[in-house]
Formats: sequence, C-alpha cells, structure tokens
Amino acid sequence: MPAKSKTKVIPRSSVAVEDYLERILELINTKGYARVVDIAQSLKISQASVTNMVQRMDADGLLKYERYRGMVLTASGEALAKSITRRHSILTEFFRLFGLDEELIYLDVEGMEHHISPPTLNAIESLTAQLRKQPALLARVKQ
Ligand code: CA
Repeated sequence: MPAKSKTKVIPRSSVAVEDYLERILELINTKGYARVVDIAQSLKISQASVTNMVQRMDADGLLKYERYRGMVLTASGEALAKSITRRHSILTEFFRLFGLDEELIYLDVEGMEHHISPPTLNAIESLTAQLRKQPALLARVKQ
C-alpha cells in the first residue's frame, strides 16, 4: 500500500455534470439564458437526455429548472461552473505558450480539466506566469 497522501481529496462531480455546468454558464454569459434546446445543440445530445440530466442536477441543488422558463444556476452550481471554466482557461493558456495546435489543445484540455487537482493547477498557473515573464527561458523550453 502506498503511503497515505496528505492532500485532501475533495469529492468531485462527474465529467458529464462538469461539462453541462461549463456549457450552461457559457450560454448564460453569452445569451443571458440557457435552455434545454441550446444545451442539446451545443453538446450534441438529445433534448430528452439533456432534460433528464438537468432534472438530476436540479435535484442535486446545482440549478433550478422550470420546464418553460429554462434554468438558473444555484450558488453551488455557479461556483462549480466557474471552477471548471477556470481550469479550462489556465490549461489552455499554458499550452498556448508552446504554440500547439488549437484543436489539439482543446481536445487535451477537455480531458485534463476534469481530473487536475487544485495544487497541480496552481503549479501550472504560476509556471505560465513565470514563462511569460521570461521569453528567453520560454524560447529554450520550446526548442
Ligand atoms: Ca469541458
């Protein structure tokens, strides 16, 4: 058995829930609202599946859903949505330093964003800041 880690393991939401929250927040920020039909379109999932998931997330206290009025995120839903959005942008900015293909970055980040822990994310964030401040170092790293 490996030694017990001192890092507290925070219970994580599922990948699907995080992707829904990320998309709902994005829709609310760009359109002012998020409807089942918009989420279905943007995630390429049937409206019936989206309705099921949204009802489950309502039961879990992540959002308030009303059939004809769409949905609003609760405080905890919004906090989780902002955290996943932050993970996505920190990882994206890091890989952009290396001039990697945008589509590749997107695909990799979409996977990594669900699994990265806060300490690792913070390490990447500060590494990004340092590399930005030191173009010569960045150039060496990129070689
Ligand atoms: Ca995502």
